[in-house]
Amino acid sequence: MDEEIQVLQSIFLDDLTINQVNDRTIITITIYSHGEENEIDLDKRLLCITFIAELPATYPEHSSPKITLCQSRGLTDEQLTELKELIQSCLELNTGSCVLYECIESIRSKLSSYELPTEACAICLTMITDRNEIIRTNCHHFYHKDCLSSYVENKKLELEEKYNDAKKNGFSVEKDFRQDIEDPVCRQILSTTILEQLPPTNRTEHVDTKLHRELIQTLSPNIRQWQQQTQALFQQQKDKGGIIDLDRTQEIIFR
Ligand SMILES: [Zn+2]
Ligand SMILES: [Zn+2]
Repeated sequence: MDEEIQVLQSIFLDDLTINQVNDRTIITITIYSHGEENEIDLDKRLLCITFIAELPATYPEHSSPKITLCQSRGLTDEQLTELKELIQSCLELNTGSCVLYECIESIRSKLSSYELPTEACAICLTMITDRNEIIRTNCHHFYHKDCLSSYVENKKLELEEKYNDAKKNGFSVEKDFRQDIEDPVCRQILSTTILEQLPPTNRTEHVDTKLHRELIQTLSPNIRQWQQQTQALFQQQKDKGGIIDLDRTQEIIFR
């Protein structure tokens, strides 16, 4: 068993962690899919799953490892079942011998055969069907690049406003949080590498939004005044009995 673990360590290096719990050795590794044509571009390793093997002291001669798959990203339930079956047959075929490398590699090649995450983009709720449109965040969630891009732009505006408000109201701002954009799903902060990868959004739209907001701000005192005037007029007419009483009309309808 020690020899097998040494071999695994030399192959998977830091991806592999080994823990000793009583007489059991626990091996954990996150397995990623390869990109197209097996390229090992980190951004294209879209799918992943954590593989945990619990090895009893009597492994491999007298017992099989207990294998758990967890924390999968971008996989459907059917695919998870398929992976579990794969492990099962791998263990059965190799009883009595070292089986971990075999298991890990067959999961990896299966993951790579799935290629694209079968997940909808959590921002627009449509499926992601083109590999080139996908962005995978540092927390391993998937979005369309354009969707994440506009989300980030809006968040930036929001944070900018919050920041300025805090400053204006004399709150002490311990840390400049304007770049702390949270992932829409898990709320982890998106890394700068991810933010830099995003395509530019249509800026004019934001100018419009800003203009809109300014317009509403300048209008609102007048609008409020106008609302007060019409409210008074409404009351006056109602008192004179010259208007349909909405409450009473409703009563009639519901009787
Ligand atoms: Zn989307
Ligand atoms: Zn996330």
